[in-house]
Amino acid sequence: MKKKRTVVSLSGIGAVFCALMMLAGCATTRPAAAEADYDVIIIGAGLGGLSAGAHLALNNLRVLVLEQHDKVGGCATSFQRGEFTFDASLHEMAGGGAGKKDRGLYQLLKVTGVDKKVELYELPQFYRSVFPGVDVDLPSNWEGFKTALKDTWPEESDGIEKFHRICSDTMDDLMSLKDLFRYTGARAFMVKAMVPLRQRSFFKYKDKTVQDVLDECFVSEEIKAVVSQLWVYYGAPVPDQSALVFLAATESYLGDGVWHIKGTSQALANGYAERISELGGRIETGTLVTRVIMKDGIAAGVKTATGRTYTGRYIIANTDPYQLTFKLIGEKYFPRDYVKRLNEFKPANSLFGVYMGLNIDLKDFGYDDSEIFYSTTSDSGVLYDRMMKGEYSDGAVAITIYSNYGDSIYAPPGKSLVTLTGYSDFGMWPSDTKEYRALKDRKVDELISLAARVIPELADPGYVEIKEGFTPRTLKRFTMNRGGVVYGFYLSPQQWQKVPNDTPISNVYITSNWSQAWHGMGSAQVNGWRAARLILDREGIK
Ligand SMILES: Cc1cc2nc3c(=O)[nH]c(=O)nc-3n(C[C@H](O)[C@H](O)[C@H](O)COP(=O)(O)OP(=O)(O)OC[C@H]3O[C@@H](n4cnc5c(N)ncnc54)[C@H](O)[C@@H]3O)c2cc1C
Repeated sequence: MKKKRTVVSLSGIGAVFCALMMLAGCATTRPAAAEADYDVIIIGAGLGGLSAGAHLALNNLRVLVLEQHDKVGGCATSFQRGEFTFDASLHEMAGGGAGKKDRGLYQLLKVTGVDKKVELYELPQFYRSVFPGVDVDLPSNWEGFKTALKDTWPEESDGIEKFHRICSDTMDDLMSLKDLFRYTGARAFMVKAMVPLRQRSFFKYKDKTVQDVLDECFVSEEIKAVVSQLWVYYGAPVPDQSALVFLAATESYLGDGVWHIKGTSQALANGYAERISELGGRIETGTLVTRVIMKDGIAAGVKTATGRTYTGRYIIANTDPYQLTFKLIGEKYFPRDYVKRLNEFKPANSLFGVYMGLNIDLKDFGYDDSEIFYSTTSDSGVLYDRMMKGEYSDGAVAITIYSNYGDSIYAPPGKSLVTLTGYSDFGMWPSDTKEYRALKDRKVDELISLAARVIPELADPGYVEIKEGFTPRTLKRFTMNRGGVVYGFYLSPQQWQKVPNDTPISNVYITSNWSQAWHGMGSAQVNGWRAARLILDREGIK
């Protein structure tokens, strides 16, 4: 099977972009239907894999999803401790619901029919940002966000408006390029050639950092720190972080709303799984894929840990690209430049956090927030380094009060459920079980003490019913991502492209945090659609 490559060279869009687009290539031929068991085998039932499965099954392709864990969802999952139900990950999902601009994620939910399976609700608070001398509460829509900033920094009004314009313009540009990944040949060349003229905001900020944007819009260091507060979710400190990712995410949250899922993010994963089954697809949990079977340079199927094999015409990996390239397929099947590029990429950080159940309702104590960030300094570079070294007493922490979301699943009346989250490096966690547990216990208490500077009740043992830490090792066990990373690659301007959804193996695709539509639950689902779309294009399905 031949694979056509896009060999345009476009000085304007930058070397990284070109290199990745060339690597991505664009396959236009379809593998023979032959007697394969399935049209598409998907390795992993995180949101990327599930979203791909739903789009493919909707178009009558025979889909098999294989998941190593005993339930679907990957990060999008929940678990029970006593009377409390914890969402393992989701705080705030961008662009999820009806009634807004109806772009991006919500369109995908509607197309697959998953919108009928889940109830999304909007969170009124975007976040409260607290650091020495500053405490600002920001609503989850542009007007409220801008008013809160102007009330605190009236002298920055022009910059606040400018920031809004830059976010909206950049998002509009990105939306106008959203199908570029499907284009080949002259069409791709023409679209890319016109970028400097047509997508001016995208073109201006593609190589810039968040710091560059902040310096362009604002004077006060404090407003810069508050506006860029979500760096704690985007996988790099402000001076290193890609402006594009930040601008698009901010516009998505403030333009389309900040969403959560009734019944936790597990309900979204279950909704996808149910829809795939209704559409004739098959999902097998408790099934670890250990090998992609290769024949004549392309994938012919997969082998599982129990020795079972399934044949398929296409393979989609909801895994990190390292597992796919080095373990499941084998480096020898990949061009040297692809492997080299993969090895040169810097992965992002993982997370450390604490799941807490309290026997008091924090609302009765005056806390009606849903998302608070507390930082010991406004310097994100310093905070990043401290967190990566595990110095939590002097770091930053995200405090999420799920029991204030208005969904009774989290905690019974009179009680509260809180999650604390900070960055972490896999390397600091010992493999020896005893040492690991001892360190974890110490760090759990450190993170709680940090959060207690905003909510002192968190450190009162009389109020705490549950406190359970999670580390990069926990996340690695549940996702199999290298280093327990949840953001894919470190999100610098040099790496925002991540890896394309197609790979040098012409019938193998990738859909995960590590691929091009970035990270987060919304992006994972967009990645699923992109991988599915590339296959549907090859099948000639509109
Ligand atoms: C603590 C935490 C908080 C977060 N908060 C937010 C938030 O507020 N908002 C937001 O949008 N995002 C958030 N995220 C990020 C978001 O959850 C992820 O970006 C997204 O869910 C990742 O989806 P994915 O498709 O890449 O797959 P993953 O969730 O990484 O799942 C991959 C799946 O593949 C399976 N798998 C891997 N290898 C194999 C194999 N060989 N065989 C079989 N199965 C395999 C794994 O078991 C797993 O189920 C958070 C994540 C964490 C951990």
